[in-house]
Amino acid sequence: TSYKISDLPKPRYARVNTLKMDVESALLEFKKQYEVSQDAMVPDLLIFPPRTDLHDHPLVKSGSVFLQGKASSMVAVALGPKPGWEVIDACAAPGNKTVHLAALMKGKGKIIACELNKERVKRLKDTVKLAGATNVKVKHDDFLNMSSEDPAYSKVQAILLDPSCSGSGTVVDRLDHLLPSYTADSSDVNRLEKLAAFQKKALEHALSFPTVERIVYSTCSINQVENEDVINSVLPLASSYGFELTTVFPQWPRRGHPVFDGSQHLLRTDLIEDKEGFFIALFVRKGASTPAKH
Ligand code: SAM
Repeated sequence: TSYKISDLPKPRYARVNTLKMDVESALLEFKKQYEVSQDAMVPDLLIFPPRTDLHDHPLVKSGSVFLQGKASSMVAVALGPKPGWEVIDACAAPGNKTVHLAALMKGKGKIIACELNKERVKRLKDTVKLAGATNVKVKHDDFLNMSSEDPAYSKVQAILLDPSCSGSGTVVDRLDHLLPSYTADSSDVNRLEKLAAFQKKALEHALSFPTVERIVYSTCSINQVENEDVINSVLPLASSYGFELTTVFPQWPRRGHPVFDGSQHLLRTDLIEDKEGFFIALFVRKGASTPAKH
């Protein structure tokens, strides 16, 4: 027997780009052709039956709607930026979450979208253009080189950190690695360790920005080393800067693996239940005056 994720019926999601179109109009338009409903947790997200193919739909081509999964769409909402804020998207390309942030901010304020890889900077710019997100400044740089002391970032209130990860929550097809008999080989382990080291460094860097009040860390990995372990390892530092781990989407049932006190604040999506494995953590600085609600 082979176990394949692609064999599981998976609803299709599409996010309405509210910079270009409101959710009601998008629903009306899609209802002409499809069975469609609105997501209860992410209000600008629409749900379609499995195998619905919207790639060539005019609303997708025009950037009024983005084909973006549910877990991925929860990340910007978890950060909860308000119109007028300054936000850093630390690892931004291809920019799905960048333009979602722009929509949540109603195109007001400023998003500094940082991306290291030159080719991917192009894709990021294309996404920003397609979305009509005029408050995004694309920066081709290493996030680790953006100095937290730089006056250019002295008003930044929130950071979205979606670093490179193994992608084990989305790229896997065969599910054999979930069987008890499966063992990862040493090259996998080595790769995960390298990724986790970068993820930790990037998160520590995000925590060092003096005016930041909210930080969201997310991966599309199911591996504890890239998720709970990264969060756990920065807790003393986070606390020294006045940050607290805060519950992401309290109504969501699947939480972080219970490997440290506070892991119930973390959010996981499940490979089988949700058909993709994601991880989201939220840090809020104590006394921050702008708690966003979901
Ligand atoms: N947030 C994106 C989205 O939703 O469309 C996906 C981001 S992807 C998981 C991670 C990105 O981080 C990659 O494009 C990678 O090139 C970039 N990256 C890796 N290391 C980086 C660094 N040190 N500084 C900035 N970007 C980096």
